[in-house]
Amino acid sequence: MTDSCIFCKIVSSEIKADIVYRDEQVTAFRDINPVAPTHILIVPNRHIESVSTIEVEDEPLVGHLFTVASQLADDEGISKGGYRLITNTGVDGGQTVLHLHLHLIGGQMMRYPMG
Ligand code: 5GP
Ligand code: ZN
Repeated sequence: MTDSCIFCKIVSSEIKADIVYRDEQVTAFRDINPVAPTHILIVPNRHIESVSTIEVEDEPLVGHLFTVASQLADDEGISKGGYRLITNTGVDGGQTVLHLHLHLIGGQMMRYPMG
């Protein structure tokens, strides 16, 4: 837990969020500012800053983020139509919250790039 981290506070329930999935490793919740009908953030419960700070021992956890993303896409009914997974990294990547997260975005035709 990093004291000032918004996503750590959501994981610990210190800050409220619309949580759609939680297990011992990851938490998923709806983005407060959705850009599409489905916009869910999937985060590790343990604070990892970004892709840049992933260590080899994090590989099972990172893989689990993707498995959960796939399951949530099924739950949201967007698997057949398709969806986008985004992980912004660092300043140039547009990362604004420094806690690793996957954006699961779908429910409409996506264009690239977005912004
Ligand atoms: P980033 O820009 O770091 O890739 O994405 C951060 C995302 O977190 C943004 O899409 C933003 O809307 C979302 N976000 C920021 N603060 C909160 C919050 O307090 N609650 C929720 N649910 N989403 C947040
Ligand atoms: Zn954090």
